[in-house]
Formats: sequence, structure tokens, C-alpha cells
Amino acid sequence: MTRKLDPQNQTKETVIKRAPLPVTHVSEAAPSRADIEQLRQDLLSHYDAHGRTLPWRIRPEDRARGVQADPYSVWLSEIMLQQTTVAHATPYWKRFLSEFPTVIDLANAERDRVLTLWAGLGYYARARNLHKCAETVRDLHDGVFPTTEAALLKLPGIGLYTAAAIAAICFNEPTNIVDGNVERVIARFFAVDAPLPKARKILRDLAGSLADPVRPGDYGQAIMDLGAKTCTPRKPLCVECPWQWKCKAYSLSTIQACAVTDYPKKLKKTSRPIRSGAVFVLTCGDGDATSVWLAQRPDDGLLGGMMGFVGTQWRDMKADDPSQDLQYAPYPKNWELLDGEIRHVFTHFDLRLRVYRAQISDSDRGHNINSGHEGSGAGDFASRDFDIAALEAGKFIRLSDIENYALPTVMKKALQHALQRAEL
Ligand code: SF4
Repeated sequence: MTRKLDPQNQTKETVIKRAPLPVTHVSEAAPSRADIEQLRQDLLSHYDAHGRTLPWRIRPEDRARGVQADPYSVWLSEIMLQQTTVAHATPYWKRFLSEFPTVIDLANAERDRVLTLWAGLGYYARARNLHKCAETVRDLHDGVFPTTEAALLKLPGIGLYTAAAIAAICFNEPTNIVDGNVERVIARFFAVDAPLPKARKILRDLAGSLADPVRPGDYGQAIMDLGAKTCTPRKPLCVECPWQWKCKAYSLSTIQACAVTDYPKKLKKTSRPIRSGAVFVLTCGDGDATSVWLAQRPDDGLLGGMMGFVGTQWRDMKADDPSQDLQYAPYPKNWELLDGEIRHVFTHFDLRLRVYRAQISDSDRGHNINSGHEGSGAGDFASRDFDIAALEAGKFIRLSDIENYALPTVMKKALQHALQRAEL
């Protein structure tokens, strides 16, 4: 028979300390209260001595002196670090802070400028939400980030992980910070047999049972560091791990024919879908004066709001019909299908893109981009200063100026492919 608890008698701290351990996944070796205290101390001491120095991070000794983390810069780093590495994200973080020193500067920026600075980080919906979130902080919170996990969760683009991280790191709220690194550490530490992604709730509860309520921000950063530096996906450094003495996967690995890397368990991978399609790279002029025709993609959907080459839809490979490609060409021109194809990996599918290339010259005057009809009065396409954007959803952009436009990586690949082939 289960006994009902009186929620009135439970403080926040007791909830964190006593988060229920899922019975089916915790053996008799589950840590006792004293073990948990020791584990927290061990991890925090390890962090104090070996934690990573990151530009947005306040070192524990500085935090002890009362230095507070800046929620704006922590928020920027957390959004950028989702799905990419510290090394890749850091230059972007620096550029953003240099151009938009405050959340109000970011909110007041043109969204296209934000997308341009973001180009190369992928997951462009995040950049759009980043801008929306800055606008919300400016308009509804007087330019000051809310200080609680619950209030942060209401902001656009801020999910469970980010809200918990900002609240703990910047405002010392005892939250439960769980990212992919933490999931891996916890799955190994408790030798959780349930496979991901189903095990996510179990791992979250287990992580909460260890989280430190006294130094929540440092603890969260410490366990994420442990996953990033020590309990790494392929070659964990168990000999250096402060939790080795209680780690169940480590213990099993010493007595059974198994490895700590057997955790987290994962469902057998199904093969990733492959989509394919075509893009049209239209150039004008040559040498330093070369321009390419780019259009802005619709806001909703993949790469929404970013610039790109006009092209076909991206369909399942079996449904893709290259013989129909030219219907989507933005100009009635002799398009050349270039050898090879672009390959790009998105979260849910792999993409193969055919690239067509054509060059506009004076003799092409009088054709309307996109419409494919003659004599629509689009003007002199040989003049790169002619702005056709008011007439159509795109414009010629000089190659020398292209860094100022939000061109996603897949489109950069297509451009590079077209330009390389043109030089052959
Ligand atoms: S002992 Fe090894 S497997 Fe266990 S938490 Fe530490 S690094 Fe990970």
C-alpha cells in the first residue's frame, strides 16, 4: 500500500534531496543519503580544481567572492551550445556580444542581421526564437531577464534545460539541469537499462536525486563538465572520475564482460531517411563583380527566413523526379547540371542536392526572374546594382558581399560547388 505524502510539508530542498529513485532501475547499490552528500562534495571539489574556463562562465572562486553570471551572456551561450561544441560556438558568441552587447541591442537589431550572424550554427529556428526572446525580454520585462526557472520557461525558445541552467547558474535556484552530457553520466552511474529516448524521464529523476541545492549553478556546470571531459561518449576516463567509487557501470565493467560505454542503452537505430532535390545557382558578371541570385525562404519551415537558391522541393528519394527539375528554374536559361551532388545532414534526414548553374549576360535582358516569361520589364540584369527585390522575392548579391547575408551552410556548399565547377 502506498502512503500519501502531504505536499504542504515538503520544502523545495527536500523535494530535490528526496527525488524518488525509479525502483526498477536502481539496485541495492543506490546511493544512501550520506553517499549523495559525498558525491556532491566530490564533484564540486573536482570542479573547483579542474572545471573548464569558458568566456561566459564565472569561476567558483569568483562566484564565492560574489561575482554573478550575466544571464544575457549565459542564455546566448546555452542556446548556441545546443547541438554544437564549445569550440564551434565560442566565436559566434563573441561576435554576438560584440555587435549586441545587451539583450536590448539584440532585440532592436534587424532579424536578418541576427540570422546572418547565426549562419553556420544551424538550427535556424533557434536564431529566430533568440530574436523573439530578446524582444519579449525588452517589451515585457523591461530588458531584464526573469530570475526564476518557471518565468524563464515562458520565454520563446527557452526549454526545460535552458531555463534550469540560467536559473541555477545566474540566480542560484536549485534546479535540475539535464542535457545530453548529464544523461550519459547518469545512465552510466546508475547503469540504467532502459534505452534512450524512453529512459529520459528516469534519467531526469535520477539526476534530480543527486543535484546539489547549495551550489546549484556550480553543480550543474560540474556535472556537464564531467560528461564533456571525463565521462565522454567513446573513451571515458574512469581513472580520473570523482564518482568512480560509486559508479555502477564502472563496477559492472570490472566483474562482467561489459563496458561502461554500453550505457546509455539506445534503441536500435533505424536508417535515416534521405531526401533529394535541386537548386539553381544563377550568376551574373564575372571576376570580382560576380553576383548570385538569392531569395529569402519563407519564415515557416526548414531554414525559415534564411537566404537560399531557388530550387525544387526536397522529397523522399523515391518520389524525387529530376526530369521535372527545370520547372522550378528561376529563369528561362540553358541550365547546366553540374557533376556530383551536395550532401548535407539535417537532424531528421540526409539531403542530396543536384546543383544547376547558369550565367546571365546582356543578351538575357528582358526576362523576369522566377516567372520564366519574356519582356516583363525586370530591367537590365547585367547591372548588379539593379534591385529586383521589389518585383520578386530575391535579388542579386555580389559574392564579395555575401558574408553579410544569412546563407545557411547547405546553400554555401551549393555555391561553392557551382563556383568550383565554373572554374574547371
Ligand atoms: S566512473 Fe567512468 S563511467 Fe562512471 S561516471 Fe565516471 S567516467 Fe563515467
